[in-house]
Amino acid sequence: MKAFNTFNGKAFYFKPLKSRSMLSMLKVSGSKPINETYDVIIIGSGPAGLTAAIYTGRARLKTLVIAGSSWGGQLMLTSQVENYPGFPEGILGPDLMNNMLKQAERFGAEIVFEDAESVDFSGKPLKVVAGGVAYESHAVIIATGASPKELGVEGEERLKGKGVSNCAVCDGAFFKDKTVVVVGGGDSAMEEAIFLTKFAKKVKVIHRRSELRASKILQERAFSNPKIEFVWNSVVEEILGKEHVEGVRVKRVDTGEVFEIKCDGVFVSIGYRPNTELFKGWVEMDEKGYVVAKDFTETSVEGVFVAGEAKDHRYRQAITAAGEGCQAALDAIKYVEDIKNRSK
Ligand code: NAP
Repeated sequence: MKAFNTFNGKAFYFKPLKSRSMLSMLKVSGSKPINETYDVIIIGSGPAGLTAAIYTGRARLKTLVIAGSSWGGQLMLTSQVENYPGFPEGILGPDLMNNMLKQAERFGAEIVFEDAESVDFSGKPLKVVAGGVAYESHAVIIATGASPKELGVEGEERLKGKGVSNCAVCDGAFFKDKTVVVVGGGDSAMEEAIFLTKFAKKVKVIHRRSELRASKILQERAFSNPKIEFVWNSVVEEILGKEHVEGVRVKRVDTGEVFEIKCDGVFVSIGYRPNTELFKGWVEMDEKGYVVAKDFTETSVEGVFVAGEAKDHRYRQAITAAGEGCQAALDAIKYVEDIKNRSK
């Protein structure tokens, strides 16, 4: 039996089709042996990926989810989710994701809590490497989601974890009775700002325009919160501080006036970019790095499907990601069943 292959210059185990011996010794998730090539590998474990896994699992496809070392996607960094149907009182983001994970496992999906490191879509079966192990499958569903965008200003990188954050739920408690700045005018920024008022004595929202992009309900909540103050028509030019954040240098876009705001924390909440670096050169993408879906969920590579924010820059909701995960799964199920029927 072939033990190793080279792949992107590294040596990896590739599990050959229908072989069970040596590779059954390899462990996934610390406990599960790899003993078969998969029907479908799902890369990503947010609502898109886990919904896809529920569907492919129920269709009795041998399913592997490469969940990532920090699994669950953006909802793991959210507090209350109020707009996911079926939870009239809302549900905590991590609880929702735990439920989806359990549901996917219930239908037989194997979960690997590793980051996907590379893919090879040049032939069949498709190959994905994660945690130093190479996996093969008939179909792949890309559900890698998106990550917070950065401002790209001086001080942002240097002061990360020293007052600069993208996640109020994770870091908000460090700012009890402090002043914090939130940058952005969308739903995420308003949610961050409102959440931060639980701890901070003042939350200053810096937005580059004079009106918010956020939904009306979040705008109403933010405007009526006495701890939230708005700095309109302004952009952050620099985050100031030596050992930790001490303030921001801000420029008004209408008058050109430059001024400083003293603060202890800066929460950057200016949207997302797709996590698709891994697939560059393998599947067609648009100029912003979103995977192009050719026909519903099909990508430019046969057998590779896409769901959620890796392709969607328009709707970006947990429910739409879950819906696309379902669509990609149904397309992958049909694709794999066709392959199996042809080889009978
Ligand atoms: P978003 O809607 O794209 O908003 C990004 C905000 O950041 C905008 O106000 C934008 O300003 C500003 N911005 C972008 N680049 C900037 C830069 N370089 N410097 C300064 N400001 C910048 O992103 P989001 O708020 O993360 O929301 C993403 C999607 O998720 C949306 O569809 C949203 O509805 C959804 N979402 C929904 C919920 C919910 O329903 N509870 C919660 C969170 C997110 P402009 O307005 O001038 O473009």
